[in-house]
Amino acid sequence: MKLTTDVVIVGTGVGGLYCALNLPKDKDIIMITKAAVDESDSFLAQGGICMLKNDEDYDSYFEDTMRAGHYENRKESVDIMIRSSQETIADLISYGVDFKRNEDGSLAFTKEGAHSTPRICFHEDETGKEITSHLLKAVQELPNVKIIEHCRMTDIIEKDGRCAGIVAQHENGSMTEIDARFTVLATGGVGGLFENSTNYPHLTADALAIAIKHGIELENIDYIQIHPTTLFSRKPGRRFLISESVRGEGAVLFNSHMERFVDELQPRDVVAAAISEQMKKDGRPYVWLSMKPIPKEVILSHFPNIYRRCREEGYDVTRECIPVVPAQHYFMGGIKVDRYSKTSMENLYATGETACNGVHGRNRLASNSLLESLVFAKRAAKRIAETFDDYDMIETDTDLAAYRGCDKDYGKTVLNEMERMRKYHEQHNTENKR
Ligand SMILES: Cc1cc2nc3c(=O)[nH]c(=O)nc-3n(C[C@H](O)[C@H](O)[C@H](O)COP(=O)(O)OP(=O)(O)OC[C@H]3O[C@@H](n4cnc5c(N)ncnc54)[C@H](O)[C@@H]3O)c2cc1C
Repeated sequence: MKLTTDVVIVGTGVGGLYCALNLPKDKDIIMITKAAVDESDSFLAQGGICMLKNDEDYDSYFEDTMRAGHYENRKESVDIMIRSSQETIADLISYGVDFKRNEDGSLAFTKEGAHSTPRICFHEDETGKEITSHLLKAVQELPNVKIIEHCRMTDIIEKDGRCAGIVAQHENGSMTEIDARFTVLATGGVGGLFENSTNYPHLTADALAIAIKHGIELENIDYIQIHPTTLFSRKPGRRFLISESVRGEGAVLFNSHMERFVDELQPRDVVAAAISEQMKKDGRPYVWLSMKPIPKEVILSHFPNIYRRCREEGYDVTRECIPVVPAQHYFMGGIKVDRYSKTSMENLYATGETACNGVHGRNRLASNSLLESLVFAKRAAKRIAETFDDYDMIETDTDLAAYRGCDKDYGKTVLNEMERMRKYHEQHNTENKR
């Protein structure tokens, strides 16, 4: 089958949806997703989304983001994200997103590790679901957007150094060519490549493998964030996240002797390393997290999802500690993009977790990723609109049969490249220290 459209967007998380919402309404858009529309990491986000509270907070927010990122962040991108945050939150509210409010009606802010002040908007502990379900509803109401579920991109179509669309495979094995003037990759993170991850297992970094295959520039793909606290389980499958805002609200970590061993509000990489070290010392596959310092009414109102899920696993967090373990959580590196989310290939954009615009440096500051995804998805949409008439549709002559099975080693390709980059960084850092 062959489809033709103005823009094809791969992925229906916040990156893909917000890009679609910001493209001109007179352009035809096809969105595809490997799973069901509501099966994306965007639905899983718990803690919240950052916002610049006021002009006085700019320097502090900027510094917190840079410090968490070990000062390897692209300053221009951090600046763009922070300065666009108020407009983004206002836009979300206009789509019906309901953030927690103070009694006077102003936005309520919570705090997470490595933030020097509360500046995170939230909706209970299901902020991602609240945001993404409203964006999805708005996209589903657009007559110019068609969403195809359970349809997997297996490659892009490259012609004369430009991207001319994608090849995709449906669950029943049939293949479709989607020709498009512009292609946007919004395929999310890499958790599906790891045994222990908070991500959906179908997020297997396909876009990265495709980028490697076509010589599209990547950046820091070995920069992978391990979240310090996921609920320990002996069962296989996705790990349940215990949001950092739990520690922001007062929860503490204990070793096997019920002694504290780390400042719980340091950046994620520092806390995760301390927990791993402590697990080795204790000879146990977890440490303990106590939410008892948080008043019961706050647990029930701010963290109802965590409370419910822990109850299902047999723990009452208002009365007892829970076992927690670090797990793969977020991907700071990705397909290298410029300030407009454009990749190194003509007509190809990337947004969300699969893209690297440098906001996060070596380590992401909590609750910066939903914001970063939204801000740079909108910038991609605006850029595509501005340059739309500069490009013609590319005539293609694609032999779909040649693409069958082309993605079978994609996971291995990405893991090998991550390892190569890790070694490169290790060597480079050692040389710099000499
Ligand atoms: C448990 C959890 C909690 C989090 N909490 C927070 C938080 O509190 N605050 C915050 O800012 N961030 C948080 N994050 C991170 C944030 O949710 C993600 O970074 C963000 O949602 C990524 O959005 P995205 O659109 O890039 O990707 P996703 O939402 O993951 O969407 C990816 C999409 O791509 C599709 N896809 C992938 N490969 C293919 C393919 N080959 N073909 C077709 N479709 C494909 C998927 O099906 C999916 O639709 C959390 C993440 C997790 C996992």
